[in-house]
Amino acid sequence: MRAWHSMLDLVLPPVCAGCGDPVSRETVLCPACDARLPRLEIDCAAPAPLAGCTAAVAYRGVAEEWVRRFKHPAAGIAALDVCALAVARALILEAAAGAPGRGPDLVVPVPPHRRSLYARGFHAAGLLARTVARARRVPCRPRALVARRETPSQTGLHRADRRRNIRGAFAAHSPLPPRIWVVDDVITTGSTLAEAAHQLHRAGAREVIGVCVAATPAPRDCAASSPRRSAQSPDTGAWRQRVS
Ligand SMILES: [Zn+2]
Repeated sequence: MRAWHSMLDLVLPPVCAGCGDPVSRETVLCPACDARLPRLEIDCAAPAPLAGCTAAVAYRGVAEEWVRRFKHPAAGIAALDVCALAVARALILEAAAGAPGRGPDLVVPVPPHRRSLYARGFHAAGLLARTVARARRVPCRPRALVARRETPSQTGLHRADRRRNIRGAFAAHSPLPPRIWVVDDVITTGSTLAEAAHQLHRAGAREVIGVCVAATPAPRDCAASSPRRSAQSPDTGAWRQRVS
């Protein structure tokens, strides 16, 4: 395998997804591009019945640009932004490395309503959930949670209104194993993940933890970069963000 990678590096040398500079095969971003990501310096919101929640970066600046590029590529799966996909996958693995608890029995994405799925052309949270499940060697079940109705935009709503807005939006299919990680791209107040957790509990889950790429924080809650980081490989666990 190592010989194969050496040959591949000669033909297709790995480059930074941000600037195109050479990087090692295990690395998505070069140190300079990685340092521009605003690491999250506080715990994510984890409203009950979530047992915890973790995210890698604050949803602002360069991180927001990467997430937007990942979620809104030019035109469906044929135009999926591979650089943004690589960064999003690295960041969801970083978030997963910092998740509390003993690890999941099952990974489930937050489901989009079918209308937004058709409009976007791909299931962003589903791609992230599969990445996490593969890394953890556990099943991913994209249909364990389904969207029962289209949810009006949560933007601009306060926490209580968001919770009301999202109530009853999902249904979960039982039976489910005890420990579940529910994956989404961005967490704001945690209302969506809490409602997902509520339905997963009703279907048999005992511990539900949210795992997200980014969290929307107050401006004081994040730094330009984290001094704790020492490498860019998502597989090393060096991109961890501890959230309890
Ligand atoms: Zn770079």
